[in-house]
Amino acid sequence: MNRPILVINSGSSSIKYCLYSTDLKCLDRGQIDRLGGQPTLTSRRDGEAHSRELHAGTSHAQALEQLLDELMASEAQTDHLAVGHRVVHGGSDFSAPVTIDDSVLQRLQAIVPLAPLHQPYNLAAIGAIRDIYPDTPQVACFDTAFHANIGKPATQFGLPARYHDAGVRRYGFHGLSYEYIATRLADTDPQLAAGRVIAAHLGNGASLCALHGGQSVDTSMGFSTLEGLMMGTRCGRLDPGALLYMQASMGMDVEAVTALLYHESGLKGVSGISHDMRDLETSDAPQTREAIDLYVYRILAELGALAVGLQGIDGLVFTGGIGENSAHIRRRVSECLGWLGAELDEAANERNARVISTAGSRIKLCVIPTDEEGMIARHTRERLNHPEELKDTRT
Ligand code: ADP
Repeated sequence: MNRPILVINSGSSSIKYCLYSTDLKCLDRGQIDRLGGQPTLTSRRDGEAHSRELHAGTSHAQALEQLLDELMASEAQTDHLAVGHRVVHGGSDFSAPVTIDDSVLQRLQAIVPLAPLHQPYNLAAIGAIRDIYPDTPQVACFDTAFHANIGKPATQFGLPARYHDAGVRRYGFHGLSYEYIATRLADTDPQLAAGRVIAAHLGNGASLCALHGGQSVDTSMGFSTLEGLMMGTRCGRLDPGALLYMQASMGMDVEAVTALLYHESGLKGVSGISHDMRDLETSDAPQTREAIDLYVYRILAELGALAVGLQGIDGLVFTGGIGENSAHIRRRVSECLGWLGAELDEAANERNARVISTAGSRIKLCVIPTDEEGMIARHTRERLNHPEELKDTRT
C-alpha cells in the first residue's frame, strides 16, 4: 500500500516541508523560517498562501510537532504517513536512501563531523519525529549518494593515502537535484541523457555535475559544501594556504574562519551588498558587477575542468533559483562557450524556455526546474515498497 509522504528538509534556522498524496501529487508545501527567533509558518495549499507566527523561541522539535499535528489533523490521507528526509551527508557508508532504524541513526550520527553545520539539524528532525510518532516510517535521502560511484582520481586530494581512507576525500553534493535532472532528461530527451552533460545547480548553494549516460562522473563540490563555484555566501575554491595564513597571521580561529567561509563570503562578501542574485542584477553599484563577473568566471573555470574530464560536452542544463530564472547569468555563461559551438537562442533564454540553444548549436543548452522534494518522495516510496533493498550500503 502506498502511503502519503511528508518530505522534510531541516536546516539550521528553517524547516521546509512538502506533503505528497499516495500518487505523489504535492498537496501542501511550506516552511517554518527564523527558528531561534520569531518563527513563521508559511504554506501553500490548493494554490492559496497561508502564513502565521509561532511562539517566539519555538525549538526545531516543537515546530515539527506542531507541523505534524496540523498535517495529521487537516489531511485525512495522513493516517499512514511516511516521512522522507533530506540528509546532506551519507559519508562513505550510504550510497542509497535508507530506512531509519536505531543502527542507521547511530551510523548517521557518526557522520556529523563531516557536515557539522547541516547534518545535526537533519538528524534532529528524524529524532523528533521518532519521539512523537515512533511507528511512522522514515527514510533518509542523501545529497552525496548520487555521486557515490565517482571513482579515483576524482574523489582524491593530493594527501597521503591514509587521509582518503579516513574520509578526507571528495564526496559531492546536490545529488538529489542532479538525480532529478538525469531522470527528467532520460524521460524528455533520451539521446542527450545518454551523452555528456554538465548540469549547473545554481541556487544559494551552487555546484556543477558532469553526467555521462545519466551517471555522475565528477562534480565541483568536494569534501564539504564549500568547494567549487562561488555561491550566495560561501567562497567556493580557495587556496588552503590562505586558510593557514588567516589562522597563523590574521588571528582568526576556527569559528571565525568557518563563519567567513560559509556565511560572509560569496556574492554577499564580494559585493558587500547581498547574497541574492536578484538584488545584484538590479543594482548599479560597481561592486555588484564585480561579484557577478567572478560568479560567472568561476562557473566557466569549473565547467572547463569538467568538460575536459568528459572529453567533450553535448549539453548544459541550468537549474536552481539562478539557473532557472536568471537569463543574464545563462547568457553570460553560454556566450563564453561559443568557441565550443554553443549558440544561445536569445528569445528562448529570455522566456526561460526548456531549450535555450538554437537548432544549429553544437551544445544543447537547457533549463530544467529541479525538484529535490519530489525525488525524496519517490525514493521514500521506493524504499518502503522494497524493504529487501533497504540496506544498500557500500563497504
Ligand atoms: P536554495 O539553494 O536556498 O534552494 P534557490 O534555488 O531558491 O536557493 O536559489 C536562490 C537564488 O536564486 C537567489 O540568489 C535568488 O536571487 C535567485 N533567483 C531567484 N529568482 C531569480 C530571478 N528571477 N532572477 C535572478 N535570480 C533569481
